[in-house]
Amino acid sequence: MRMTVLASGSKGNATVIASRETRVLVDAGLSCRELLKRMALVDEDASALDAILITHEHTDHVAGLSVLARRLRIPVYFSEPTHRAWVRQMTPRTAMTYAKWLEHVQKEKEARAAQDAVEDGSIQIAAASAEAEEDDASAAAIKRDPASLPAVEYFQPGTNFSIGDLSIMPFTTPHDAADPCGFVFESASESIRMAIATDLGYVPPNVKRALERIDVLLLESNHDLEMLKDGPYPWAVKQRVLSRVGHLSNHATAEFLSRDYDGNATYIVLGHLSETNNAPELALLSAEEAIRERRRLLGNRVVLAQQAAPIAPICL
Ligand SMILES: [Zn+2]
Ligand SMILES: [Zn+2]
Repeated sequence: MRMTVLASGSKGNATVIASRETRVLVDAGLSCRELLKRMALVDEDASALDAILITHEHTDHVAGLSVLARRLRIPVYFSEPTHRAWVRQMTPRTAMTYAKWLEHVQKEKEARAAQDAVEDGSIQIAAASAEAEEDDASAAAIKRDPASLPAVEYFQPGTNFSIGDLSIMPFTTPHDAADPCGFVFESASESIRMAIATDLGYVPPNVKRALERIDVLLLESNHDLEMLKDGPYPWAVKQRVLSRVGHLSNHATAEFLSRDYDGNATYIVLGHLSETNNAPELALLSAEEAIRERRRLLGNRVVLAQQAAPIAPICL
C-alpha cells in the first residue's frame, strides 16, 4: 500500500492512497494542472486514479475538483451534506431549497444517463482530437454548470464502504464545515491501514478510536499556540483556528500522541502546517518529544508533509 501526500496546508491539500488494485485521490485542493504536475513528479499515474474522495468543502480541499474529475472522468465521493455545500459554493447566486436540491440531483443523474447512452453509441475518434474536444466540452460544461461532475457517490461518516480492494471508513471530525470527515483505508489483501486526519479542532473519542492500529498516519499539526497568538491573523480568525471546530495545534497533536495514540504506526506524517503560525522544526520537535515519552516504540518515523511540493511516496 502507498500514501503520497501531494500537498498539505491551507493553500491546498491532496493525497494519493493506492492499494494493489485501487488508487484514489483524497481531496483536490490545488488546480487540476498543478495536481497533474505533482503526480507526474512522484510517478503517480493520474489516469490510473479510480475516484476522488472529499473530506469537506473548504477551498483548500476542493479548488481543482470539478476540472480534475471531468478531465479524468472519474467519480467523486462525498457525504451528501458536503456535496450540497460544495454545489452551493460553486453556484453562489442560486438560492436552493431542499426540494430544489433533490431536483438538481435527479436532473444530474438523468443527464449522466443520457450522456452515457450517447457515448456508448459513438464512434472512436483519434485520441488527440478526442482529448481536445473533451477539454472544450468540459470547459463549456463547467461554464454552464460549475458543479457538474462525471459521477457522484455518497458515503456516510461512520459507515464503511469499498472502492475496488480498498475498504474505507470515513469518520466525523470536529471542524467548521457542513459534514467534515477523515478516512481510514484498509487493503484486505495487504492488511495495512492508513489514515488521514486533518482539519479538526480537537481529537474526540470517535477519532481516537478510528486512529487505532494505523500503519501510516497523516495527522494535522497546524499551528504553534504562541506563534498564532502573537501572529498577524485578525482576532476573529485566531478564535476560529483555536476553536473546537478549528485546527489542531502542535500541542494538541503532541497530547494525542503521548496520551491516546497506540504507538502502532510505522510512519506519522505531520500535515496541514500553517505557513504563518507554525515552523516545521517546531511541529517536528513537538511530535518527536511526545513519542519519545513512550519508550517501547521503535517505528514511528515522523515525516513532514509539505505545501509547496509532494513528499516521497510512503510504501508499506
Ligand atoms: Zn484545510
Ligand atoms: Zn477545513
